[in-house]
Amino acid sequence: MNRHISGAERIVSGEKINRTVSELISRAMSRGASPDRIRVTIDDLGPVIARTVTGLDISTVNAPDPAAARSIAAARLKQAGISEKAVKQAIRLLAAGPGTDGQNMRGAMIMEARTGKRLEQDRARGVRASRFDWSEDARHRVRQLLEDHGLPHFRIVEAVALATKIAHGPGVVAEICWSDDPDYTAGYVASPGFGYVRFPICKQPGTGKGGRAIFVQSELDAERLIDYLQNEPVLIIAAGKYHDAT
Ligand code: AMP
Repeated sequence: MNRHISGAERIVSGEKINRTVSELISRAMSRGASPDRIRVTIDDLGPVIARTVTGLDISTVNAPDPAAARSIAAARLKQAGISEKAVKQAIRLLAAGPGTDGQNMRGAMIMEARTGKRLEQDRARGVRASRFDWSEDARHRVRQLLEDHGLPHFRIVEAVALATKIAHGPGVVAEICWSDDPDYTAGYVASPGFGYVRFPICKQPGTGKGGRAIFVQSELDAERLIDYLQNEPVLIIAAGKYHDAT
């Protein structure tokens, strides 16, 4: 089987490379299913200084089932300015598998907020965001924040980091995601305005279809956004706040 189980990345200074690599290897080995392969890549970011941002605020909506969660998620996206047509299209694709022939994608779809038109060139793979991380201090704080609210899941820390990078992207209006991991039912919508809104049950357990859709203001934003997502380093140096569900 050649299924990708879990990935993680870090932005660190040179003297922390050894320690960080061994932490990531331990992390990969402790994920239940023992992996056939662990791949470690180290990129030198050179003299580029990472852009520093604050993590998105986090809230949870305890919708009782996937239909309720998706309907509230859709309402949030519409409030953020995404058309009904585009929202429906994204949810339909996430449910069906957004890649070719109903496969999952390794990256995200990019959609125009008004029309729902897909703007990523490679519709099988999508666009993978990379080069983002929490500072050590902010990682510690966000973990604590999640733990204080009964949400100590490692996946949430990673997902909020990714959603934070995405929300700061040029032209980004909002994002919707739920995992393709059959054992992980949670999903979220995120935007620069309402932060990261988590839904614990976005799909039925055992369902292996999911993905990410990023909505942009206009078709003209896509190229700049893709370059930002893939190449521009973003370091999250403070955790956002936790809000009670509204
Ligand atoms: P996950 O939440 O890791 O289960 O990922 C859910 C979906 O989001 C995957 O199926 C991919 O389509 C997409 N995805 C995962 N990681 C990234 C990433 N780094 N950048 C963009 N899209 C991603």
